[in-house]
Amino acid sequence: MVGMLTQVQSLAERAKALGIRFFLVSYTDLLGGTRAKLVPATQMASVEKNGAFFCSFASNLGLGPEAAEIAAVPDPDSLIQLPWEPTVGWVACDVYYEGEPFPAAPRMMLNRVIDQAASLGYTLKTGVEAEFFLLRQTEAGYEIADPKDTAERPCYDQLNLMRQFDLISTIVTYMEDLGWGPYQCDHEDANGQFELNWTYSDARTTCDRHVFFKYMVKTLAEQRGFMATFMPKPFSHITGNGGHVHNSLWQGDVNAFAEGADEGGLSPLGYHFLGGVLAHGKGLTALCAPTVNSYRRLGANTTTSGSTWSPRYISYGGNNRSHLIRIPDTGRFECRMIDGAVNLYLATAGILAAGLDGIKQQIDPGQRIDENLFARGDEFTNLQTLPHNLYEAMAALKQDPLLIEMMGELGAKTFLEMKAKEWNAFNAQITTWEMDKYVNI
Ligand code: ADP
Ligand code: MG
Ligand code: MG
Ligand code: MG
Ligand code: MG
Repeated sequence: MVGMLTQVQSLAERAKALGIRFFLVSYTDLLGGTRAKLVPATQMASVEKNGAFFCSFASNLGLGPEAAEIAAVPDPDSLIQLPWEPTVGWVACDVYYEGEPFPAAPRMMLNRVIDQAASLGYTLKTGVEAEFFLLRQTEAGYEIADPKDTAERPCYDQLNLMRQFDLISTIVTYMEDLGWGPYQCDHEDANGQFELNWTYSDARTTCDRHVFFKYMVKTLAEQRGFMATFMPKPFSHITGNGGHVHNSLWQGDVNAFAEGADEGGLSPLGYHFLGGVLAHGKGLTALCAPTVNSYRRLGANTTTSGSTWSPRYISYGGNNRSHLIRIPDTGRFECRMIDGAVNLYLATAGILAAGLDGIKQQIDPGQRIDENLFARGDEFTNLQTLPHNLYEAMAALKQDPLLIEMMGELGAKTFLEMKAKEWNAFNAQITTWEMDKYVNI
């Protein structure tokens, strides 16, 4: 419905036509949090031009408490009218500081790399799979919302899926109305876990939609007495929340990963891009799996379903889910270390920067491996492992000048400082496991 209005209209004018009374003027911080101000539509003419003002320090974007405000300037192309509250329009923002693009904001990082790709004639298109759990918060802690959802191998379970029909069908209908092209929903591999798929688009649109999708799912779940979580690994014995991203690179209407693809599924250009992603794989993990908890998912040995579905090695294969990179089909590859805690702007910017580096340097991705790496990974002694924890991931990021340059000095410094704090706070905890294990030592 939004798309039918002409782009030349201002947001304030579109608000009148659509019955929007408020705008949620939104951006993501370096930790993936969504920050917003609610602006009455009557005030939107000024905000559209000058932005809404926020304190950078308070919103995890660097600078000190003494600095002036950053300005969040709406990208009119991102407008989404809340399907469940049509008086509100959500807009993703670009962030400015003292009249200049603010380099440490994740959407600005992505904008920079997208511009770089565009100057070479390329557009990245992506699709994301944002898995989530439906939980209930009780006095005892967090529980899977549906007490009947207990099977050892619950993937694709029909009854468990249909018990959530009200929530899932509502979300899918909304995505259809918004023109996202949702196409499949399933109960995933863990108890209480679901995945709702929608169609890929240009990378920035997918990032904006990912932010909105999480907000929509959480809100609609809350309205039904549930809590939706995208946390990478809420329960150690069952599969965690992935956020796999599928990638293809386009030159106009031509998928450059598909043009001249071999039987493995990619073109020479595609393999070079992939070579770049693998070469920067360790540093990229910091952007794709950015929390302490992410490494409970990546590092897991197994789960009750029989598989973790998360990679441990820097490797690729064909339509094979045991690798970091899977080529499921001609003309695209899937990056599987990404989890539900990701700030997708940051991860996508990293993947695109790494891929462009691969193209520039014609990096060879090496041989694809047609084995079950979950079972046989240890036999491939030439393979590098992914970082084992947040500390190792951040150390790898620090040592990757290309990714640091992509983030910009302030963005990289702030991100690394915040993550060092997170790691230290985690390390300051004495767990029950440690007490049980070592108290009698
Ligand atoms: P799987 O579970 O097999 O990994 P899904 O169907 O859950 O795959 O998700 C696939 C995602 O990849 C979807 O978002 C889909 O739109 C997207 N996709 C399909 N083709 C391309 C492509 N050429 N480029 C980027 N993304 C793509
Ligand atoms: Mg104030
Ligand atoms: Mg999927
Ligand atoms: Mg899945
Ligand atoms: Mg997948």
